[in-house]
This record gives sequence, structure tokens and C-alpha cells, in this order.
Amino acid sequence: MSGLGSRVPLEELDHRDVDVLIIGGGINGCSTAQHLAAEGYNVLLVEKNDFASAASSRSSRILHCGLRYLAPERSPLEFLTRPSRLRTALNMAVRSLNARREFLTNTPERLRALDMAIPVYKGDAYPGWQVDIGAALLGILNFGGPSIRYRRRNPRVAAAEHPLVGCLRDPASMVSVFSFRDYQFVWPERLCLDALLEANKHGALVRNYTEVTRLDQQPDGGWQAALKDRLNASSSIANIRARILLNLTGAWIDEVNQMAAPASPPGRKIVAVKGTHIAVCLPEKYRGFGIAGLNRENEHMFCLPWGDLHYIGPTETVFEGDIEDVHPTEDDVTFLLDEINYMLPALKLKRSDVELSWAGARPITFDPNRAKGKRAPSGVFHDLGREGMENAMTLTWGWVMHHRAAARDMVQRVQRLLPLEGKSTDVSYEASAFPKNTNTLPLVPDHPEVTTGVLRHIAQHEAPAHLVDILFRRTNLGWQVKLPPDAIRCAAEAVADVLNWDEDRVKMEIDDYKSYVRKQHLVS
Ligand SMILES: Cc1cc2nc3c(=O)[nH]c(=O)nc-3n(C[C@H](O)[C@H](O)[C@H](O)COP(=O)(O)OP(=O)(O)OC[C@H]3O[C@@H](n4cnc5c(N)ncnc54)[C@H](O)[C@@H]3O)c2cc1C
Repeated sequence: MSGLGSRVPLEELDHRDVDVLIIGGGINGCSTAQHLAAEGYNVLLVEKNDFASAASSRSSRILHCGLRYLAPERSPLEFLTRPSRLRTALNMAVRSLNARREFLTNTPERLRALDMAIPVYKGDAYPGWQVDIGAALLGILNFGGPSIRYRRRNPRVAAAEHPLVGCLRDPASMVSVFSFRDYQFVWPERLCLDALLEANKHGALVRNYTEVTRLDQQPDGGWQAALKDRLNASSSIANIRARILLNLTGAWIDEVNQMAAPASPPGRKIVAVKGTHIAVCLPEKYRGFGIAGLNRENEHMFCLPWGDLHYIGPTETVFEGDIEDVHPTEDDVTFLLDEINYMLPALKLKRSDVELSWAGARPITFDPNRAKGKRAPSGVFHDLGREGMENAMTLTWGWVMHHRAAARDMVQRVQRLLPLEGKSTDVSYEASAFPKNTNTLPLVPDHPEVTTGVLRHIAQHEAPAHLVDILFRRTNLGWQVKLPPDAIRCAAEAVADVLNWDEDRVKMEIDDYKSYVRKQHLVS
């Protein structure tokens, strides 16, 4: 059976030479590892926590159709006076449409359709006719692609079809409601795993809980990296050598660059902007309907269907603390409840309606003139060689939805630095599947697909180290249900022998799981 297996002992990596060292096991690191390995490169990816445990599992999960990128910041005239803005907007819209087309063709099981409605009020920055023009342009750019299903209607007509429209504030000032189809990533963490499993099939080595603690440029232009095992404090450091360094550490990019060139680090690349969401259970009649708009700070806000729940968010606050400690706070929850009750007053949401929450740090491209960074374009490559770090590159504000295109782009950049004569293989975007018919019982009745046999398979083949890894990132269960204590214990016991956990360790994993959901999801 193929898979990541258990973690390679760190000593085995000592003195290894690889073509490319990828630091960071978020969506961009995993996808880049997959594409480079398929191209024939000898790749090592290291992640200091679990794979997909940072921004890639904390997003709003949307695969936007691209309409929002065609909205000018202030007035459509700016597209005439500053054509570069129009170019960026068109480019972002096209990339979104391409990503949507590609995902729907290659990996539809990882997407869910999301029909969004957005109200237009009198005096809004974007009158309805401007949105119509944007949608028409998007339709042209989307030629032959899956329909965007754009419509703009009278609010009364829209409310008859979309029950959340009837909950919107100030119906007297509402001029129209437009709607279109976006998609939602069902399970972004699994996209990372899919990519890693593929990378591994092509020979890439991947190791979680492995931190790069030191980087030294070598006289030949390559890199030496010191790797530390975060699960085993007594293990020695492994030193590996790489021809090319890819710093794909999201919100940690500057920290890692600083490590590589302490005397004269490259200029600042990132501003970390925290985003929190809350999930609530709305009455049955709203199930499946999503709505979006602007909050009173003029920032995007939505309420999106997500299984039996809806999630609301995100917040936008510059985060200057320890990125590993980003988590939702009660202040975030209060802010989101206030804003959603302003936008959709009929819902009358209270703190007790909040089922769970999550927060992440967006790795937004630094811009000295914008406190919250430069949002457009997304996915900005930086050749660090221009700033003294030879044979090193990074990517800022690389979204989940663009990760495949970004990885292909990265492959081309690597090829320019290190041309390879070898044979490349096609990249497969197939979604990995769990074994069926394990003849074991499901952990919880509502999710028959996650049996104890599946958990054991994960423990054997997908390199989890903790119960949280299994329940939140290898399966989706932690996100979907508040697991009862006996199910948490059952999960830990199911994998205990595979992961060499004795009873004390089982207890510790259960306690850690409970602390994790309390802190990271505000679930008590
Ligand atoms: C609130 C919010 C909403 C968003 N909404 C959307 C959306 O709707 N659609 C969309 O497409 N995108 C969205 N995004 C953006 C998207 O989630 C991120 O841009 C993307 O996940 C970044 O992926 P990454 O791989 O670059 O970084 P990350 O996922 O953050 O991964 C970087 C990894 O590097 C590791 N690392 C750091 N330092 C080291 C080291 N020294 N050694 C080893 N490993 C290290 C970290 O542990 C981390 O796991 C959103 C993001 C947020 C936070």
C-alpha cells in the first residue's frame, strides 16, 4: 500500500543532498512538492507542525468565480487612469476562472457549489449596472467554462427564492440583489494530503514536525539547512544540502528569510492579517443558502452554508504576535455577531448560537502604504536571489484556489535555475480515497465513512503524529461534529498500537485534543 508511512528517522536525512528543499507544508508547499517531484526533481519538504495546520486549514474555503476582482477600489475610472490595475483585475479573474474550470474537471469531489446572493443598496459604491458590466465581462473571460449563473433581481423576487435575502437589513433602501455561483473547498486539508501522497509517489521525501532552524548559503550557491525534530527534543539536528530553497512558509516567510541571511535579510515580504470565522446552526429553511456583503468597516463579510451549519466571517486584523498562537478570541466572536446582526438582523444571533470558531493568519504581500498589505495581485513570486539569497524563492499571498497554477509556475522558475534532463511524469489531481469495507465500525453514526479501520489506515499510511492530526486534518470529523468523549477515546485507542501509544499517551492525546478544540475552536 502506498502512502507517507511513518516519519523517516531524522538521522536518515543527515547529510542528504536534494535538488529542492521546500520549507512549509501548507497548500503551496505540498502542491509545489507534488509538481516538482513529478517533474523529476529530488525534493524534500519539511513542515514544523502538521501538514496543513496553518493558514491552509483556516481559510474561508472559497473558490471565487472572480467577479469581486473586477470591482475597482473606488471608481471604474481608476481602470482607465491606471491600466495596470485593470490588468491585475483581469488577470486575477482569469486565474480564478481557470482554477474553477480545472478543479471542476479534475477534482470535483473536493468542491461544493455555493450560490451567493449580494444586496445592492441605494448609494452603494457599486451600483447594480456596474456589477452587470463586471458580470458580462466575466462571462466573456469565462468563454466555454462552467456557468457563473449571474442574475440581478428585484429584492422581493430574490427573497422569494433565497430565504436569507428576507433577513437583510433595511429592505426599503435595497435596490436589487445579485447572485452567482462560487464553489467551496469541502476539505482544504485533504487537498494538501492529496498533493503530498502524489509527491511521495514520485519520490519526494516529506516530513512533518520538522523545523528548519538554520539556513546557510554555501559557496557554490546551494543551501545547508539544519532540521530539528519537534517531536523528539533529544534527537540530534540533521543537516541537509539543497541546490534550491523554496521558502513557502506563509506568514513565517520573513522569519525564515531572516534565518537565511541574518546580517542583511531581504526586505519585508509579509503582513499577517488575522481572520476569524464563527459557525452557527440556522433554521432548516436557510440550509444551503449563502449571502455576502460589506460590514460596517467596509470589509467583505459573508454567511455561507457548510453542511448543517453556516459560517460567518471573516475578521481582518493585523496580527503581530506569535503566528503559531493565532486563535479566535471572544472579542472576534462579539465583533462577528454584531456585524452579522447588523447585516442580517432577522437572524438575531447570540453567543449561545455559535457552535465553533477558527482563525488563521493570511500571508498578505507587504506594502508600506497599506496597513493590511497588498491584496491584489494574489500569489506574488519573489526571487530572493535579487536580494542576496541566491537560488531561493518565495511566494506571498498564495491562495488555496490558485495553488496548482502557482506550483506549475514555481516549477518553471526552478527549471530556469536548475534545468533537469530527466523524464517528467504527468501530475495526477485525483482525490485520494480511504479504504472501503474495513469491516470496522464508524466512530460516529452520522459519518459512516470514518471507521476505526480508516483511522488505522491513516495511522499507517499518512504520517499523523497526534490525535488532532487524525481527526482534523486526515479526516474531516473534528470540523463536522462535536465528538463525544467516548468517540475521542475510541479514535485514540484505534490507532494506539500502530503509533506505539501506551495508556498514558492515549490519555495525553485525548486531553490535548480537548484543549485544542477549546483553544482553536472555542468549543467547550
Ligand atoms: C481567514 C482567511 C480566509 C481565507 N480565505 C480564502 C479563500 O476563501 N480562498 C482561498 O483560496 N484562500 C483563502 N485564504 C488564503 C489561503 O488560506 C492562504 O493564502 C494559503 O492557505 C497559504 O498557504 P501557504 O502554504 O502559503 O501557507 P500556510 O498554509 O500558512 O503554510 C505555511 C507552513 O509553513 C510552516 N513553517 C513555518 N516556518 C517553518 C519552519 N521554520 N520550518 C518548517 N516549516 C515551517 C508552517 O508551520 C505552516 O504550516 C484565506 C486565509 C485566511 C487566513
